[in-house]
Amino acid sequence: GLADRLQATFKKLRGRGKLTEDDVNEAMREVRMALLEADVNFKVVKDFIKKVKERAIGQEVLDTLTPAQVVIKIVNDELTALMGDTQSRINISSKPPTVIMLAGLQGAGKTTTAGKLAYTLKKQGKRPLLVAADVYRPAAIKQLQVLGEQLDLPVFTMPEGTNPVTIAEQAIVHAASYANDIVIIDTAGRLHINEELMQELKAIKQTVKPHEILLVVDAMTGQDAVNVAEHFNNDLGLDGVILTKLDGDARGGAALSVKAVTGCPIKFVGMGEKLEALEAFHPDRMASRILGMGDVLSLIEKAQSNFDLEQAQEMEKKLRKDSFTLDDFLDQMNQVKKLGSLDQILGMIPGMGNLKKKLGDVDFDEKEIKRIEAIILSMTKKERRDPSILNGSRRKRIAIGSGNRVQDVNKLLKQFNEAKKLMKKMKGMQKTGRFSGFKL
Ligand code: GDP
Ligand code: MG
Repeated sequence: GLADRLQATFKKLRGRGKLTEDDVNEAMREVRMALLEADVNFKVVKDFIKKVKERAIGQEVLDTLTPAQVVIKIVNDELTALMGDTQSRINISSKPPTVIMLAGLQGAGKTTTAGKLAYTLKKQGKRPLLVAADVYRPAAIKQLQVLGEQLDLPVFTMPEGTNPVTIAEQAIVHAASYANDIVIIDTAGRLHINEELMQELKAIKQTVKPHEILLVVDAMTGQDAVNVAEHFNNDLGLDGVILTKLDGDARGGAALSVKAVTGCPIKFVGMGEKLEALEAFHPDRMASRILGMGDVLSLIEKAQSNFDLEQAQEMEKKLRKDSFTLDDFLDQMNQVKKLGSLDQILGMIPGMGNLKKKLGDVDFDEKEIKRIEAIILSMTKKERRDPSILNGSRRKRIAIGSGNRVQDVNKLLKQFNEAKKLMKKMKGMQKTGRFSGFKL
């Protein structure tokens, strides 16, 4: 993928020591190819490379002691600028209800995103009302109602055949009398952009005057997503874009081009089908993620909202004293389970790609954690504190005691050692102060 390509390019660059203009040109040629292959808009790539080169070939860069680092920093800065310099938020109206209208093609993820947004806002103490304005498919209304039930939030519907404009209008009246401070309108899509769709959306916009019109686009569709965004922005006017299905093997082109092409910021990204799988879009973090510096900040944010604070502080103390034990490892496994898939988490940490490979395709699901738990609980207290004493006969005893094979015990110890290394790495980052406020 894009990240791998760029990382390989920069690794070569780092290995060089002193850089010549040719070195930079060669690296930029590779970056250009990588971006094009990731389906980034051609013109965006051209401008991007031009900007980076201008800055990188400046005398002062090539003369620094660490020119490669400086070039990488420039690429990082420019990638960030490409996606928008700041993180964008939802405009909350000072006069409730705040009306959010979701638009987009069929299958882009509007209805799912409506649920995710409602979930996010509910967690922030809001009282969202979901509005089913996709009247063409009865299943769409049902889909939103199911989400509403899951979230324990109201869903506004009207009888079949009602005009979507009327539904949106009535929903706002309803919200006012039921003290819903947010109204999320889920509109109908079409397979392709057409006049009928645009007319309908414009009519809703004119009538309810949304505070936020957010376009939902599927990241998997690459440049098509960007074209759709351009079209919607010209016709309807957008406040922002939500990029869905970024958890799949989307190539990154859409994330990198949307802002540059349309001027509209990406506000959120969809990272899965579940209601929790919506993340605020941080251009700087996305840039770091693409450059393989990992998305430590996102991970930390996620960890902070999911981890038990007391436990986190406890863990921090242990890290400081370097007394991470197998008991802690087990705790961690249980915490990790709360965060999402281990794969996803490791992908966010710099340099953890290798660990991911080392751990293999171990899926830390319920069953795996139960197995780990059984093995660890079959150890003595002393063994758990100091796994280095686990020789062959102890391992065999533990395997039999926990109903596993010796290989399973070995595998677990290997995983533990990797986790410990990971902890050290995080601790190191904490020390450099680069990630102050980092608590895990
Ligand atoms: P709509 O037609 O625009 O309302 O699209 P839906 O909300 O019905 O979503 C279409 C499909 O995309 C559903 O199967 C969703 O579960 C899926 N989907 C939506 N967002 C995401 C996402 O961020 N990641 C993944 N993997 N699937 C998503
Ligand atoms: Mg829908």
